[in-house]
Amino acid sequence: MAAPTPKSPRLAQQIQLAFGDKPIEDPSLLKLIQQVDDTYRRLGNLQQAANHYGRVSAVEWNFVSGQIEGGSSWKTQLGYPSDELENRISVWQGLVAAEDLKALIQAVNEHAKSGSAQFQQDCRMRTKSGLWRWMRVSGQISARMENGQPRRALVVVSDIDETKRSEAAMLQAKDAAEAASRTRSAFLANMSHEIRTPMNAVLGMTELALGTQLDTEQRHYLGIVKSSAEALLTIINDILDFSKIEAGKLQFERVDFAPRTLVFDAIRAVALHAQEKGLEVLVSVAKDVPMRLLGDPTRLRQVLTNLVSNAIKFTETGEIAVEVSLDGRSADSAALRFCVRDTGMGIAPDKQEAIFEAFAQADQSISRRFGGTGLGLAICSRLVDMMGGRIWVESEPGKGSRFLFTSHFGINTDAVPETPKPPRFAGKRALVAIANGNLAETTGSMLSEYGFATTVCHKADESLTAIINGGKYDLLVADGPLLIENDAALVTAWQSSQDKNPLIALHALPTHQTASARLRALGVECHVVKPVSSDELLDAIDLAWGNTGNSAFALDEFTVDQSLVAAMSPSSSLEILLVEDNLINQELAVRLLQRGGHHVTVANHGEEALELFDKGHYDVIFMDMQMPVMGGIEATEAIRAREMRRSWVLSVDHSHMAYIIAMTANAMAGDRERCLDAGMNDYVAKPIQVAELNAALARACTELGKPLPQNAPQPASRGQVADVPAIDIAATERDLGDRALVMDLAKKLLDQWDRLIEMLDASFAARDADALLRDSHTIKGLLAMFHAESARKMALDLERASRAKNWDQAEFHLGDLKVELDRIKPLLTKAVKSI
Ligand code: ADP
Repeated sequence: MAAPTPKSPRLAQQIQLAFGDKPIEDPSLLKLIQQVDDTYRRLGNLQQAANHYGRVSAVEWNFVSGQIEGGSSWKTQLGYPSDELENRISVWQGLVAAEDLKALIQAVNEHAKSGSAQFQQDCRMRTKSGLWRWMRVSGQISARMENGQPRRALVVVSDIDETKRSEAAMLQAKDAAEAASRTRSAFLANMSHEIRTPMNAVLGMTELALGTQLDTEQRHYLGIVKSSAEALLTIINDILDFSKIEAGKLQFERVDFAPRTLVFDAIRAVALHAQEKGLEVLVSVAKDVPMRLLGDPTRLRQVLTNLVSNAIKFTETGEIAVEVSLDGRSADSAALRFCVRDTGMGIAPDKQEAIFEAFAQADQSISRRFGGTGLGLAICSRLVDMMGGRIWVESEPGKGSRFLFTSHFGINTDAVPETPKPPRFAGKRALVAIANGNLAETTGSMLSEYGFATTVCHKADESLTAIINGGKYDLLVADGPLLIENDAALVTAWQSSQDKNPLIALHALPTHQTASARLRALGVECHVVKPVSSDELLDAIDLAWGNTGNSAFALDEFTVDQSLVAAMSPSSSLEILLVEDNLINQELAVRLLQRGGHHVTVANHGEEALELFDKGHYDVIFMDMQMPVMGGIEATEAIRAREMRRSWVLSVDHSHMAYIIAMTANAMAGDRERCLDAGMNDYVAKPIQVAELNAALARACTELGKPLPQNAPQPASRGQVADVPAIDIAATERDLGDRALVMDLAKKLLDQWDRLIEMLDASFAARDADALLRDSHTIKGLLAMFHAESARKMALDLERASRAKNWDQAEFHLGDLKVELDRIKPLLTKAVKSI
């Protein structure tokens, strides 16, 4: 075989010199020539490229001789003339920064061992002027020795100093920007805290001042201070939330929650505002949305509440709808899509993006009218981002808006899989009469899912009456106002033609009490408050059938909240829960209530009350206000929230809502409002007086529609506190109507006397404002029971001082109180003996 003609003229020359025209037979030699030619060709390409880019040098390292071959471009690249420096690898290496050289050697070794396509390493190299420049060294082993060791390598060195510097500058700028943003957010967070602390004081002090004797004008001014302070606090909370997100301090939870419950709870919390404006509120959660998810329910609720509140704020007529659907699902995760739709003022197209930015409002003048910070949507957008979703709006001015967002959640793979329930009412016919078209459709499709053949109509006119009279229906679901219209013609038509089949009335929150009372008088028993979930409608249907005694739908066929059923049968004695931490007061109240023929269960504080409430059914709850663990206001709010959840379906049937009576020694103006605001029905002042207690119970029985207990005294008016110097046992006897009981209580008080004073001293010494507040409050209640008016006032002053953490004042009042207590003790002891 003739020697191949290499492309490289230099190689051709070498072959000519070595072999002349002799053919080359040795295959390994031929292969070597081929390789060398290839190498020369590549080197040529690289050198060409090097020339082209100017900042690149391309050479060949000869590991055997230690020489750098292929020209001196590597020197010019570093600013050296081509005749300076030896063409040796070690000389080149001597110019590489030590730590980079280590990395380079490692990269070359790895490449040599693994046979990878090439090696590459960024190194700093010193130029002739003494400055360092970044170079990117890349290369490839081009020939190996027989033992596999590298013999030669092609090496390309590119000067990347400028790129590196601009990269570094960019990184620096980015770090600086992030640091500035963190500083700004941290500043905002600190500032919000700084403002919140005095704000809380302003609010607290205003509350206190509102509880004192004020004339109308003063009360008016303080009322304005209070509402302005509350509005300011809302803004500060928004800012705090926002700055927390910006500062990256917001932590996301991953806990198990039920999305349906969360959506309904969130909407119900604000539905009242919408219904007060006459807006219909619609909620629908698609069937395929998983029952339980893993994620941060608080944050999801925050986004929903914000969007729904905005929808209510910017809508005057029509409806607000929340729709939840499944956007995608895998074995262990689900994406949901939420849509909050309104029929409000809408948003101009050019504002639709900006409103998601902080402090942006679509229309300053309108927003000024409605208030707000312009932070709500910015917060939502960040939260949705953190939930792995996106948020956007579709809107047409004057027609309404649709705010949509998606978010990702986990699915608990250990959970029991959900099995679809078969339609239970196949073959039954239902009639839906609801004015709002969308609500009627949604309700109709819920009923269809249970198997009903459904007819939907929107008016209570003759045609509807004709439908009713024309055929047999098993169920009517109708809007309260439609049922009441025209002298309740619809109810009459239904009752006279449909074999007493059940009728479920739907109500809006603001009108449900009056509407349901009217309808109940006409024999309509089942009432549901909107918005209604699919499960709740099903519960209502079950209960309605159970109550109408329809044999096809016997009650025990279905799961029904037995407490609701029990609440429907009136009885003369009441099931009472007494929530009171003080043993003496407990005893007193229990005795008085039992004497009235009632059954009493005692809880020592709010949390215990909640546990009992969950397990049992109570007609009336007597609730002390200040208790350890959980106070009365908090407990009442929690009970009301549970009732809402538990029996939203039938909340209109008043008898199953516990009637809560506050018992408080805070005989201050404004207390009554605080109790009622928290969801309590009535209020009795401590010390407990028989007449007042019975009057409150009589009011409760009237409200609950229960007959008054046989031996209950007639309602009486609130008693007056007698004005006596130390104690007034006779007045206590009159209050309680039982001498033995008074003696018992006095004895018990004397037994606890020293311990009570010790507790006061200890709380004061420890500067424990909460404990001192509680102790002085307890003593105040006990003293009031024995009409120890001046001591009671001192205890009240002590209570106020401890609330304000004014330790000088507290010391002063505690001193006074102890002197007065010393005066009372012998009087009380004497009284006990004389009784
Ligand atoms: P805020 O309501 O506190 O001003 P948001 O960030 O929640 O702040 O909303 C920003 C602005 O977006 C609002 O001021 C309003 O102009 C507009 N906007 C938000 N929701 C709606 C809606 N449902 N309909 C019309 N405009 C809306």
